[in-house]
Amino acid sequence: MAQRIVVIGGGAASIGAAGAAKGADPSADVRVYTEFEDVGYSPCGIPYVHGREIPDFERLFLATKQTYENAGIDIHYETRVTGFSPGKKTVTVAGEGEVGYDKLIVATGFDYADPGVPGTDLGNLYYVKNIRRAIEWDKVLDGVKSAVVVEASPLGLEMVTALCHRGIETHLVDPGAWALSVATDPDIIAPVQDSWREKGATWPAASSWTSGCTPRPRTSGRRATASRSRTA
Ligand SMILES: Cc1cc2nc3c(=O)[nH]c(=O)nc-3n(C[C@H](O)[C@H](O)[C@H](O)COP(=O)(O)OP(=O)(O)OC[C@H]3O[C@@H](n4cnc5c(N)ncnc54)[C@H](O)[C@@H]3O)c2cc1C
Repeated sequence: MAQRIVVIGGGAASIGAAGAAKGADPSADVRVYTEFEDVGYSPCGIPYVHGREIPDFERLFLATKQTYENAGIDIHYETRVTGFSPGKKTVTVAGEGEVGYDKLIVATGFDYADPGVPGTDLGNLYYVKNIRRAIEWDKVLDGVKSAVVVEASPLGLEMVTALCHRGIETHLVDPGAWALSVATDPDIIAPVQDSWREKGATWPAASSWTSGCTPRPRTSGRRATASRSRTA
């Protein structure tokens, strides 16, 4: 009987693992569950499409759904795994019930923590991750006049630059004394801050600081959109 390999997750780790499992045992029944609509795309490119340095989202997909089907990997899209039991060797799948496995790979990646401040249930908060949401938000950004990026993480830095490229008044809030302070000395990050300054950015030297880039003139648009971004 074919070995049943279940993979939870549809990101780089899970698709890599599913492909490797199928390569090692072509007869294996490899099944992937992801709660997202797509697999096998580069989230890393999302800020660069927002910033118009990469022309479209299609370029971020590494393969089509058909490619995975042809490779014999059975992907269940928009399907959440709600639990698993190593004792029984089963996963519990929303809409499918209990599914047995011989080998289980858990590659569920990261999720954003609740920032723990009032208002996180309001609209206009963008948690940068899923490419479908990014495609939707890219259209929203056409009408945005100002944005706040929360945390000077690597992704936060990329989003600040991307939003500046879009001509959006951008403010970065972070408890550190300089951008990416958890990982770098100030002289390392200085060129990034210099490039923001070139785009008209200003920020006070304070322990909880804000930077803003000067927007290109706009005649209409939405205000007060917050863009929250944080990497794993
Ligand atoms: C916008 C952005 C930019 C980035 N830029 C860079 C970069 O420049 N360089 C770099 O090295 N890294 C970057 N990263 C980080 C990098 O993309 C991640 O490290 C990588 O995506 C992690 O892959 P993963 O497969 O472990 O998890 P993820 O990509 O987090 O995927 C998790 C998967 O698990 C699925 N899932 C979770 N829970 C369940 C469940 N219960 N049931 C079913 N499915 C579930 C989700 O649907 C998703 O498909 C970036 C990330 C983002 C979001």
